Amino acid sequence: MPKRLTVVVSQGQSNNPAKRKLEEDIVAALLFEPGIEVTIVPHLYDLKGDGPGMMGLQAITTDFVVLSWLYERATRWTLDRNNIRGQVGTTLLVHESDDEEDDLLDEPEEEDKLRVVDNRPLPKRMIFCIDLRVSNQVQDYVDEVKRIHGELSTQVVQLGGLGSAPSPTPEQLARVENPTNDTALKDGGELERPVEIIEPIRLEENAARRWYPVIDYSRCTNCMECIDFCLFGVYGVDGAETILVEMPDNCRKGCPACSRVCPENAIIFPQHKTPTIAGSAEVAGGGLKIDLSQLFGKPKEDEKSLDTAVRERDEQLLLAGREAVGTAVGVPKRQADNEDREKDDLDDLIDAVDDLDI
Ligand code: SF4
Ligand code: SF4
Repeated sequence: MPKRLTVVVSQGQSNNPAKRKLEEDIVAALLFEPGIEVTIVPHLYDLKGDGPGMMGLQAITTDFVVLSWLYERATRWTLDRNNIRGQVGTTLLVHESDDEEDDLLDEPEEEDKLRVVDNRPLPKRMIFCIDLRVSNQVQDYVDEVKRIHGELSTQVVQLGGLGSAPSPTPEQLARVENPTNDTALKDGGELERPVEIIEPIRLEENAARRWYPVIDYSRCTNCMECIDFCLFGVYGVDGAETILVEMPDNCRKGCPACSRVCPENAIIFPQHKTPTIAGSAEVAGGGLKIDLSQLFGKPKEDEKSLDTAVRERDEQLLLAGREAVGTAVGVPKRQADNEDREKDDLDDLIDAVDDLDI
């Protein structure tokens, strides 16, 4: 028997008919896939930690695939902040631009820094995150889910053969190799038993739009610069003195200031229009990320990222009826020094791309 696999479809925030159609068509196609169960939730990022949507996802203890309108990193770490964790499942359906950025940046140097995730063992189950913006073709998602399902089922059969369980029969192996044909067709094409159709589970929740930072703990070094910089009480620490987003809804809508201050590029604003702030551009090794927005889309001509962050924070302070503080509060000296540092290889790379006049 193929392994059971849950596919979570996280709906778009708007009722955009094209998005809804893609979601519903994927759900409909997966209903006929043996061994696959579908759960539908409102937009993942908007779900409350103690609401029915997130609690329903927390109840899934096995491997699962998430299809959402978010970058893969944004999905993964949004789940993580709600205690939904697992090993990173590799998906082949990814943004082409991520591949191009990887080509451009080549292999980053390994850094010898301790990341928060290094002290946090993850459960063995696997979580595969797929961005629904990668393709508008239903079949692309169905094929990728089937590929993942087949791979996981093969692992189960192989593990079974190594342990005390009986070795798989040739029929079981054949089904694993082609799990979509697990419809019990007898020789000659006669149906042995009907295809099992499992109705999707819909976890309803009145999810209003939210705006808050999500921490990528595979990059975060727990340096605390974000908690010093934010003057709206968004960040806090847990019992082990690890940074966390404690009061997410205190964050100022549309403001991504602290993501520009984080030295590890570990802070994601999944709904920001700049892809690198929204969670794209993962670089092999999980370490250094070069913010291409600094090349292609920085907010103001010649404005450095720290200046932008300070300006954005001041704007939000004024909007909240408070006084602007400029660089007087929460700006680490290291960051200020970096703004004036001598050029290094990264600057040379940025200059080279600038020269391309893209
Ligand atoms: S500034 Fe970045 S690396 Fe430092 S604690 Fe905050 S999220 Fe982690
Ligand atoms: S974006 Fe602004 S308000 Fe929100 S957490 Fe960062 S610094 Fe605080």
